Amino acid sequence: MDGFETRAIHAGQEPDPLTGAVVTPIYQVSTYAQDGVGGLRGGYEYSRSANPTRTALQECLASLEAPGLPGATGLAFASGLAAEDTLLRAVCRPGDHAVIPDDAYGGTYRLFAKVAAPWGLDHTPASLTDPEAVAAAIIPGRTKVVWVETPTNPLLNIADIAALADVAHAAGAILVVDNTFASPYLQQPLLLGADVVAHSTTKYLGGHSDVVGGALVTADPDLAERLIYHQNAMGSVPGPFDSWLVLRGIKTLGVRMDRHCSNARAVADFLVGHPAVSEVRWPGLPSHPGHEVARKQMRDFGGMISFSVAAGEQAAVDMCGRTSVFTLGESLGGVESLIEHPARMTHASAAGSPLEVPADLVRLSVGIETVNDLIEDLDRALAG
Ligand SMILES: *Cc1c(COP(=O)(O)O)cnc(C)c1O
Repeated sequence: MDGFETRAIHAGQEPDPLTGAVVTPIYQVSTYAQDGVGGLRGGYEYSRSANPTRTALQECLASLEAPGLPGATGLAFASGLAAEDTLLRAVCRPGDHAVIPDDAYGGTYRLFAKVAAPWGLDHTPASLTDPEAVAAAIIPGRTKVVWVETPTNPLLNIADIAALADVAHAAGAILVVDNTFASPYLQQPLLLGADVVAHSTTKYLGGHSDVVGGALVTADPDLAERLIYHQNAMGSVPGPFDSWLVLRGIKTLGVRMDRHCSNARAVADFLVGHPAVSEVRWPGLPSHPGHEVARKQMRDFGGMISFSVAAGEQAAVDMCGRTSVFTLGESLGGVESLIEHPARMTHASAAGSPLEVPADLVRLSVGIETVNDLIEDLDRALAG
């Protein structure tokens, strides 16, 4: 079980011992019969603590993010934000401090600014493309977490995971990498020195825009123990059917990502040559400031692109309403292409903050449709 695609299809998913079912059953159940008090038949007691469908997903996630690392532990959650919240409660105390990206996903920023800060965890936004800026934002003795996204949402900046792991560890902090944009097929942060990987499985892992979920993976046994405790004690777990949907999506992650990446390359090349577009952000472009770091730590450059419309904010908003193959909508990472205006949609909660995004920016989640249909659609929308 060495290859990524083999693990995606089989890890944690032996044929059902009772029936031989090839696909992990949806164990739609809350409680389990005991043979005498405390006599658990299969280790299961109550489905908030553990459920066999969720266990299969968790084992598969651990195998994808931490191949070969002993003690790798995967945990599934009801959403990406539930995973993030559980992680912060498990590793931080009131009075602690975190360094976060100055272009973090809007929901992550809101969690830090509106939920974690009143609870007593404060934060400093820093440019994570610059390890020295991160080192300068660390408060010795108080900083417990350096939080990284790479590529970032929506600006597609690239952070050097190995360099930031050194910066975090030198200060006694842990490095958390939100690996949602890359997925474990393109990038495996735990192998580069990160302590925890966080995911919105809603996106590429689920891959079909039909489920909301989250995940954490770590190979540190003490951290794993605390996370398992908090997963059960806080209770924001996914149900069996949602776990099954993510598990099913993961089986095709490799082939989907290959097509997302090749379609994105063609779309990025088209946008670069278009007169109505002033700037294209895609880490696969040699002109992208993070291109070399991305080449070093990623297998390919992903399916997310953002670009600036030369005529400004209103033109960007208008073009988002004119596509027909690209669906106007939030979220990303599904088989279908999506277009959105981050400043008014996904990142509206960052308005007026240091994380406000440019108003002329359009974000694409390039899907796996026929690439010429995608390019023609954008060409028509840009023409007005
Ligand atoms: C969507 C997203 C999240 C939040 O995940 P939910 O499943 O929506 O709670 C976190 N990080 C990134 C990068 C995301 O795109």
